[in-house]
Amino acid sequence: VEQLNLYYTEEYRRMDLEREFSDKLQTKTRITVTRNRSNLLSVHKEGNDQVHLRVQEIFLRAPQPVWEAIGTFIVSPSTKTRRIIRDFISQNRPADALKKSGRTLKLTTQGVYYQLDSIYQALNSEYFNGEVKCHISWGKPYLKKRKRSISFGNYDGFSNLIKINPSLDHPKVPDYFIRYIVYHEMLHAKLENVLKQKTVRRAHHPVEFCESEKKFLEYEKAIAWEKKYIRLFIK
Ligand SMILES: [Zn+2]
Repeated sequence: VEQLNLYYTEEYRRMDLEREFSDKLQTKTRITVTRNRSNLLSVHKEGNDQVHLRVQEIFLRAPQPVWEAIGTFIVSPSTKTRRIIRDFISQNRPADALKKSGRTLKLTTQGVYYQLDSIYQALNSEYFNGEVKCHISWGKPYLKKRKRSISFGNYDGFSNLIKINPSLDHPKVPDYFIRYIVYHEMLHAKLENVLKQKTVRRAHHPVEFCESEKKFLEYEKAIAWEKKYIRLFIK
């Protein structure tokens, strides 16, 4: 056993975790280990059948309960799993990242044409009774020139943050389209909270999501605009 342990490198640990997670979540799980000092853990759902987990290397030495919490967190984030993960991070934070702690989210809502915060506030009172509570920010611009697909927005449950693609801050983008993108991500934020008690794995856009999405008054218009103009963003 002693000798085997010598060969149990971090890479083996990573592969074991990938297998364990793919089994447990019944979803192909990819784990990337990073040395990122500000973003220690992030989960990306890639379609409905793949999960990509980026973890800082401190997590390779995390005890089993922490990994169990991460597994539960992916399926249904709850206050309890968040706390277990946060506690582990605060006790194991890479030394020179301490200065940055709490400063990791740099939110910018003011664009040149659109102001995300006022869009968010207006949608929140118009559609959500003011009940959505999350952060919103412009994301970083894409550096790569060519891309095959584009994501106009995303919601990350771990940081409770909506990020909107800054290429939408453009005079040619109609306001109903950007409002639709923000509305869509706010629905994710809302459902994350509603569904967090359920333990069953759920689709990224479950039926109730799609029904709520159509309540957005300019839904048809926004979808039509997206179909017509998406190529401008992709080429
Ligand atoms: Zn979505």
